Amino acid sequence: MDFRLSDEQEALRSSVREFAREVVAPTIAEHYEQHTFPYEIVRQMGKMGLFGLPFAEERGGMGGDYFALCLALEELARVDSSVAITLEAAVSLGAMPIYRFGTEEQKAQWLPRLLSGEALAGFGLTEPGTGSDAGGTRTRAVLDGDEWVINGSKAFITNSGTDITALVTVTAVTGTRPDGGKELSTIIVPSGTPGFTVAPGYSKVGWTASDTHELTFDDCRVPAANLLGERGRGFAQFLSILDEGRIAIAALAVGLAQGCVDESIKYAKERQAFGQPIGNYQAIQFKIADMEMKAHTARLAYYDAAARMLAGEPFKRQAAIAKLHASTVAVDNAREATQIHGGYGFMNEYPVARFWRDSKILEIGEGTSEVQRMIIARDLGM
Ligand SMILES: Cc1cc2nc3c(=O)[nH]c(=O)nc-3n(C[C@H](O)[C@H](O)[C@H](O)COP(=O)(O)OP(=O)(O)OC[C@H]3O[C@@H](n4cnc5c(N)ncnc54)[C@H](O)[C@@H]3O)c2cc1C
Repeated sequence: MDFRLSDEQEALRSSVREFAREVVAPTIAEHYEQHTFPYEIVRQMGKMGLFGLPFAEERGGMGGDYFALCLALEELARVDSSVAITLEAAVSLGAMPIYRFGTEEQKAQWLPRLLSGEALAGFGLTEPGTGSDAGGTRTRAVLDGDEWVINGSKAFITNSGTDITALVTVTAVTGTRPDGGKELSTIIVPSGTPGFTVAPGYSKVGWTASDTHELTFDDCRVPAANLLGERGRGFAQFLSILDEGRIAIAALAVGLAQGCVDESIKYAKERQAFGQPIGNYQAIQFKIADMEMKAHTARLAYYDAAARMLAGEPFKRQAAIAKLHASTVAVDNAREATQIHGGYGFMNEYPVARFWRDSKILEIGEGTSEVQRMIIARDLGM
């Protein structure tokens, strides 16, 4: 068993770390204040090849693997989570379904721009009336000649309304299965298609510099050829995409948890109280030691899940454990880091204030903590 990174992985990690510190850190707070999307940062991440990390070179990717993506997400989230979730959603939820399930034509049409970061794709699963119970999808798509006609709405869809969003993959009911259940399929809807409306961005507690919208489809017509993969495979497709995505979200959560350690050490060495730096007090040292322990164990959990996935072994339970543990740890560390910063921790100019607001969604998005527990319990035969 060897948890050390290869030279190549270390090189990737340090180049993303440098980018996060030198490019993201100085400018991201302004985007949070102004609620703007960081186009320039995204453009530079594209030039670095981050959007192509886990994809084959012949498709325009970097020829890396999913673990490489996780390492990059961890380093970005150590500084900022809006930028990290933008990359996570673009790669793991946006491009990956097309890469995995698309036809040759769909891959040729969309992947070059998605893998270079010139364009983004959204993943439209959640609806206003149903999230955890994704089988409760109500959006419908009916074949009319050689076109799908889509009606319904989607909620909270990341990267769906930026100036560079090219498409959204939409899960829709396309019929009834032989057992009477809903037949779910996935359909590609290009941005700007008549009948496809993107609502103004939500006012969010955190991830403020990321892009999230409600979408409506009103007799929205797309070619029949926009079906992604086989008809009726929508349920299986999103389950497999979300299983992998949980490892990526765990990596992002570890980054936030580690960023809380970084900022707390820095602040505890500077801030004086009762005649000495607060870092001299054991109460503060123990908080930081616990935060480091939590970030470290959560990292091991996602390394394990990623290793199993890349080895082609079952990894559903380990991915759920990693996501559950890492998101809990991120929230814990954000709370403690804010506490260590005292009143300044409540001020937006300090990164820990952002970390605190950005942490909670990690226990909700891509499967809530309750859903992760359901997955783990089911896998244990309960
Ligand atoms: C900023 C943001 C970005 C997002 N991006 C995307 C995206 O790009 N694409 C996308 O499709 N979705 C996206 N989502 C949606 C996200 O995945 C859902 O919000 C999440 O899965 C939870 O669904 P819900 O909000 O409908 O909550 P619900 O499913 O209504 O859950 C409400 C509560 O009930 C609990 N609960 C539900 N069922 C059970 C049960 N059986 N047992 C016990 N407890 C239960 C849940 O755990 C939760 O605590 C995003 C959400 C946010 C906030």
